[in-house]
Amino acid sequence: MTKIVIKFGGTSLGNIDRIIAAAKIVKKKLNNKGNRIIVVVSAMAGKTNELVKQSEKISKNFNKRELDVLLTSGEQVTSALLAGALEEEGVKARSYMGWQIPILTYGDHNNARIVNMHVEKINKYILNKGVAIIPGFQGVSKNGEITSIGRGGSDATAVAIAKIFNTDECEIYTDVEGVHSTDPKHFPKAKKINKISYEEMLEMSSLGAKVMQSSAVQTAMMYDLPLHVRSAFSSAEGTKIFGSESIDYSKTITGVTYSKDEAKITLLGVQDKPGVAADIFEPLGKKSINIDMVIQNISSDGKTTDLTFTIKRNDLNKTIKIIKSNKKSVKYKSISSDKKVSKISIVGAGMITAPGVTYKMFRALAQEKINILAISTSEIKLSVIINEINTAKAVKKLHNVFNLD
Ligand code: ADP
Ligand code: ASP
Ligand code: MG
Repeated sequence: MTKIVIKFGGTSLGNIDRIIAAAKIVKKKLNNKGNRIIVVVSAMAGKTNELVKQSEKISKNFNKRELDVLLTSGEQVTSALLAGALEEEGVKARSYMGWQIPILTYGDHNNARIVNMHVEKINKYILNKGVAIIPGFQGVSKNGEITSIGRGGSDATAVAIAKIFNTDECEIYTDVEGVHSTDPKHFPKAKKINKISYEEMLEMSSLGAKVMQSSAVQTAMMYDLPLHVRSAFSSAEGTKIFGSESIDYSKTITGVTYSKDEAKITLLGVQDKPGVAADIFEPLGKKSINIDMVIQNISSDGKTTDLTFTIKRNDLNKTIKIIKSNKKSVKYKSISSDKKVSKISIVGAGMITAPGVTYKMFRALAQEKINILAISTSEIKLSVIINEINTAKAVKKLHNVFNLD
């Protein structure tokens, strides 16, 4: 017996024809004797965004509990539609809502984390050759409140199921043929990657490749759960994500990613004395604002310095407000911000052993007359902040320079 969890993303369930097509994929898998299947569904493409917008029309501070009730409704719709489509195909199928299973979560509304699921009911159902359909993204708190687990969270639901139900396979069906060297929807030269390590995938996801949600990859890595990302629209083999034995050291760079979710803040003339950086960042940390890159110039007069840092773009207004309200403990001359910046990254485990990657990236950007505003590095990635206008130019150039075209 092979237990499989199959996840369909929003585009793969984007209309009724696609839901029927997804049902046929599931049926085909089930016809392979011995397969037992749990399906995880996303909401139809665009649905969650539409619901967010509707809530914002009522209030920018829409009640978080009600927001979870609202947003998780998209997955309820696709669960029922897919169950109906499977029945129509002659396949025994049933949807189970998050609270019915239950999928227990811990943490805040809108960003909870799956901690456990009850398996008996569903195991029994699939052992009897039924297909269990589970809504991604949904959870329930220990107080019985409906929760959601963060945007793109259906990937995390699928991985949690792989772990908790101890499945043999976890297949992520999406609208491209797998993980590519860069976003294939926007860059036709992107090449499919046949296999990639968790570490590289985690970096790529965190740095903008939304094909896999980063916390899902992190969980898969933690428990060593192999993933297979593939297309719902073609039968081509997709990308296998697994341990470090999948690393191709013959390549320096595995992928180029970009993110336009960034913003940059500069504080000019900040007092240069111990504790100032902590005074600036502590109130931000307490309000859950993540700081990404930080650059502090060397003080020329020994008294003041300039500090630049980057954050998520939708945290910009909140961040500026907090800093300004903190003027008593942090003294500076002026504050400026730029939200038209993007982050371009190159990712690859091969970087560890290949010298010269840094200068090669900088030289390539210079050749395109792209100015670098901030830099950050780790063992297997190198990121720069640039003006957003240059995003496509930078991605194309780096993709080419690092032999990914
Ligand atoms: P789903 O709805 O199936 O979860 P997503 O829209 O979340 O799908 O993720 C798939 C999309 O990720 C693709 O359509 C593609 O545009 C985008 N993407 C960005 N970077 C990459 C990459 N490196 N490889 C593959 N897809 C990528
Ligand atoms: N529907 C949710 C979202 O759009 C979860 C998902 O699709 O993975 O974020
Ligand atoms: Mg997704």
